[in-house]
Amino acid sequence: MNTQLPSVLMSAERMADLAAASRILAARGVVDGFGHVSMRHPDNPNRYLMSRALAPALVVPDDIVEYDLGSNAVHPASAKGFLERFIHGEIYKARPDIGSVVHSHSPSVVPFGVASVKMQAMFHNAAFLAQGVPVFDISEQFGATDMLVCDCAKGQALAQSLGSASVALMRAHGSVACGPTLQTAVFRAVYTEVNARIQHFAHSLAGTAPLAALSAEEGLLADVPNQTAGLRAWDLWRAEIRSETGW
Ligand SMILES: [Zn+2]
Repeated sequence: MNTQLPSVLMSAERMADLAAASRILAARGVVDGFGHVSMRHPDNPNRYLMSRALAPALVVPDDIVEYDLGSNAVHPASAKGFLERFIHGEIYKARPDIGSVVHSHSPSVVPFGVASVKMQAMFHNAAFLAQGVPVFDISEQFGATDMLVCDCAKGQALAQSLGSASVALMRAHGSVACGPTLQTAVFRAVYTEVNARIQHFAHSLAGTAPLAALSAEEGLLADVPNQTAGLRAWDLWRAEIRSETGW
């Protein structure tokens, strides 16, 4: 019996899922020419996997590169990586519970990083936001910069700002969404963008009146089904990519 075969097949399937995640996020308007998704290496928690620097909608499984948590490519001949890969490495270092990270500049979310209005959980699918959404302001530690998280120190500062949350906003830049699995991180990135759109609508109705958002307790309760039955959304999105690409 060939005991190697199942793990080789599983690995190929995981690479395909990670490549598909890039395309899912592009199809849902979370990423465009920019943005990236990674997953912690399934066999080595001190490494992670993400595509080479490439527009997310173009990623194929062969584009996946392996990094250590210092965000150095494990194989020196690997293709050029994203400038902001340090976001991923430093969050994996700081948060052993996180298995996947999405970084995006999704447009409905950006206003909450520059306006003095807190993002709140508008509905049950965005329950993971109900514990609070910190805003990382790169200028607090680094002064005037190009706004990019382009080294370990800036990645550490972002991870510190994220704390125990699932999502952090990045002032005048974008956001990160994290989860224990690739599927949950993608779900959270998509529903952070959807929640932001809904909150803009809710403010337009309510004016300056407070919104009846999910409480922290409701958020904890509602996040449980989101991580199980709610992930049927992943099955739909994954099937769409498979029908387009054949993988
Ligand atoms: Zn960015």
